[in-house]
Amino acid sequence: MRNKQKATRRRWSIRTALIVVFTVFTAVALGCMLIFQIGFLDDLYEMIKKHSVRTAAEEIAAAIGTEDVDEYAAYWSMKEQCVIYITDSKGQVLLRQLLVDDEKEQVDPAQLQQLYQAAEENGGTYYTQSDTAVTVPQKRGNDKDKGGGVPPDGAPPILEKPSDTPTPQSEINTTLIYAYLTTDPATGDARMVAITSMLTPVNATVRTLLVQFVIAAGVLIGFAVLIAFIVARVIARPIVEVNRAAKTLVSDAYTAPPAGGYREIAELKETLAKTEVELRKAEQLQRELVSNLSHDLRTPLTMITGYSEAIRDLPGENSAENIGVIIDEAQRLTRLVNDVLDLSKLQSGTQTLSLVPTALCDAVDSVVARVRRMTEKDGYSIDMETYGTPQVMADEVRLSQVIYNLLLNALAYTGEDRRVTVTCETTGDCARVSFADSGKGIPADELERIWQRYYRVHKDEPLRDSMNSGLGLSIVKALVECHGGRCGVESTVGQGSTFFFELPLTE
Ligand code: ADP
Repeated sequence: MRNKQKATRRRWSIRTALIVVFTVFTAVALGCMLIFQIGFLDDLYEMIKKHSVRTAAEEIAAAIGTEDVDEYAAYWSMKEQCVIYITDSKGQVLLRQLLVDDEKEQVDPAQLQQLYQAAEENGGTYYTQSDTAVTVPQKRGNDKDKGGGVPPDGAPPILEKPSDTPTPQSEINTTLIYAYLTTDPATGDARMVAITSMLTPVNATVRTLLVQFVIAAGVLIGFAVLIAFIVARVIARPIVEVNRAAKTLVSDAYTAPPAGGYREIAELKETLAKTEVELRKAEQLQRELVSNLSHDLRTPLTMITGYSEAIRDLPGENSAENIGVIIDEAQRLTRLVNDVLDLSKLQSGTQTLSLVPTALCDAVDSVVARVRRMTEKDGYSIDMETYGTPQVMADEVRLSQVIYNLLLNALAYTGEDRRVTVTCETTGDCARVSFADSGKGIPADELERIWQRYYRVHKDEPLRDSMNSGLGLSIVKALVECHGGRCGVESTVGQGSTFFFELPLTE
């Protein structure tokens, strides 16, 4: 238990979890941006540039032999900021497209020839690049012996520094060189399209991006934490409310959480409300079970006590018949204990009665005879009037429970004459049993409520100390209704009450 509590305490709150998740997510997103945008910026730029240069070379090569070749070269030179040569197989320049008219040559015929040979050896295309570290501002020249960077794989030194612009000491200028061999379709001569293009140094851009990144990272992480706070508040509040309500579920202090919220939260609240109803029902049933049990046990116990006392106090009463009643009642008691359990099942609708054809008046008569024997020593008299032999479908044990309850009530609340009249008759398509007493009666406005559990009219008159739990009539009502019958009462204050129950006759 303590471990459980510790585990609960150690768990993260939604707010903490959200803040962590948001922050990690933002950091990962920023990290990816950093890697791809800044780390790979050089490579990406170079890749794109290479692709453009290759496309340019191919398109220009395709235009060789047509009148449009000049236009193509001019177009691509402008577009890709590159210098374009078309040469023959000796490196002799046939077309030259410089970026600006007065620009000087970057590659001399010898270098172009070397380039041609390299492309030829390489299967028709050749790509190289030349890095030029610049420590002092240099002037670009076109002298043959002033070769620039050394291309890889022993390719000829074919590049010189292309610009007069002073370059910072730390910068490295890289030039892409691409050669593409083709044939002039008009003459059938071999031709080479050579393109040189400067790669703009991205170091400065990277530095700028890094500064931007640091600022953006700070702002974004701050923003992520803020959003996490807000989202946590919005999400966590209804959960906290539901949790608070759920904690009070088992106690009577339960208050439903306020309605609304997200669909899941609303569903959770509905589930909680249903659980609460079910829990209350279960509690109620449990309480009723205990009450019913104790109430129903009292009746046969009273009988057993009464008969036993009679046998003990009155020598003549020590008869086999009286002892038989005690045994019967003890057996009844056992059955009742089981039956009360069944009753609660009946009330919850989970069990059916075991109905058998029953001669109703005989069943009433046998209960009356027993009760009469027990009560006549106290001066009570029970008159039994029977009209006809109505047959009903009834559960024997439940039926006697009903008769006992109504008869003992009538005896308890009857007037000073201590008389009760029990009538069993047929009325229309029903069999009716009524218990008439001569007591105080029940006020009309209370007649409805006496069937409710624990309701008592004469609260100040403990006529039936041992039995007045206020459950008898509600049990009677439930049982009669389970038999498909109904029960009722007619009462005149000062004259007495007549309780009755009716059961449908069998065909
Ligand atoms: P209890 O165990 O208290 O008798 P019941 O459910 O049998 O409980 O009865 C409910 C209440 O109805 C009683 O407390 C009593 O006030 C009233 N009542 C029952 N039967 C009679 C009757 N025959 N005459 C007058 N009042 C009655």
